[in-house]
Amino acid sequence: MRFHVLTLFPGMVRAGLDGSILGRAAQKGLVEIETVDIRDYTCNRHNRVDDYTYGGGAGMLMQAQPVYDCCEAVQAGILQRQGQKARVLYMSPVGDVFDQRMAGELAREQELILLCGHYEGVDARALEEIGAEEVSIGDFVLTGGELPAMVIIDAVSRLIPGVLGNTDSADTDSFMNGLLEYPQYSRPAVWRGKEVPDVLLSGDHARVEAWRLEQSLALTRERRPDLYARFVREHPEIMEERQKRLERERRRREREARRNGGGTA
Ligand code: SAM
Repeated sequence: MRFHVLTLFPGMVRAGLDGSILGRAAQKGLVEIETVDIRDYTCNRHNRVDDYTYGGGAGMLMQAQPVYDCCEAVQAGILQRQGQKARVLYMSPVGDVFDQRMAGELAREQELILLCGHYEGVDARALEEIGAEEVSIGDFVLTGGELPAMVIIDAVSRLIPGVLGNTDSADTDSFMNGLLEYPQYSRPAVWRGKEVPDVLLSGDHARVEAWRLEQSLALTRERRPDLYARFVREHPEIMEERQKRLERERRRREREARRNGGGTA
């Protein structure tokens, strides 16, 4: 997958994405990150990209012409390679909030353009002409779109087959199934007097899976009731299966209690 980052700070984006898993993915040719300096598309002697905003107010705005020309130049190359233009995402606090679903959807694209704003943002006419989709990474304001672009590239890239070492490791992450991830433990089994839950040492795969689902459901219900409600709505079959399992476990405990001569557990 090829990402084109249109920015005033190409060095910042390159430095941020060079290392670790994404650096290796780039070396393997699984992802390619091209940075394009918007300043190269200015038509004035001083390579200025910003100007005052009409109507007054503090701050400068990135002008329409260099942004539009830069984007069109990149689209021309994409059109030649793919036979169609790529989606353009403008990093913007007023956009749709980026999430794991959006990451999954974007991971299916061949090429993507990420436009980074600066100052007060970009002239609205350029965004309209480009047909940019506005994407926010959360309800806060950063100084530029470079960090949001890097966040999106990272989240999308790790969903591309082969980018993560273990192909399963993205599947169980938070949000992948709509829930927050269950707590995890590694060796030793006891650390500072704290024990790893018994079930995880049992070797019983079905019990481990059931425990993990219960942990995920409890955590999501407590911390993200919005996600929990959506999960229940969208996965009635899992909730039904779970209900049946809980019922079976309850009956088993009752039988055990009777065998041991007690009442109901
Ligand atoms: N005047 C804009 C507003 O109030 O919505 C904020 C502009 S911000 C200082 C400069 C640039 O940073 C934006 O054009 C955008 O590219 C980027 N940016 C800032 N916060 C962001 C966020 N939460 N998500 C995505 N991009 C953001």
